[in-house]
Amino acid sequence: MSEMEDLHVSDCERCPALVESRSRIVNGTGPADADLLFVGEGPGANEDEQGEPFVGRSGTVLDDGLRDVGLAREDVRITNCVRCRPPENRDPTDEELAHCRGYLETEITRLDPEVIVTLGKVPSEHLLERSVAVTKEAGSLEDVRIGSEPRRVLICVHPAATLYDRSQAETFEAALERAAELAGVDGSSGQTRLDGF
Ligand code: SF4
Repeated sequence: MSEMEDLHVSDCERCPALVESRSRIVNGTGPADADLLFVGEGPGANEDEQGEPFVGRSGTVLDDGLRDVGLAREDVRITNCVRCRPPENRDPTDEELAHCRGYLETEITRLDPEVIVTLGKVPSEHLLERSVAVTKEAGSLEDVRIGSEPRRVLICVHPAATLYDRSQAETFEAALERAAELAGVDGSSGQTRLDGF
């Protein structure tokens, strides 16, 4: 089994409400050895339809932000706390987050990323296991144990938060710049210098 296949969940029915509301399981995308891992909350309508995390308008914001710091979507791994779309785009419940946690931890363990970037409140609180004021704390780096390993988590606002609020856009851009710096990318050149990408 390849590393990518190993990270691919194809048959899971642990969350009855999500099994009901999903069209498909949306797995993480990107290299299985990426140095940067972006974690969102869960699939929305576009993601559920296309089977890929962060597509649609949020995905465009993320792609643009990555490009501005010298990265492309293909350079990073992008995944979610839950892999199935919650009904009416509600937040995943604690139980659903717990059900899907093992898949996320396996993905993190396999990637062994330099930095995990949490996109929005739900993934930030899920991985840091505390309440997070995302707008205030965006750009902060925190050490936390995930599974059996210590990890570095960088808090970031959700890309969708930037669509109507310029200050959130600046916060988002600054957090991505920090993520790129931590992973060794020189955004000013527009060139990726990440080993192994
Ligand atoms: S959200 Fe995760 S744990 Fe729940 S049914 Fe989907 S893949 Fe399984």
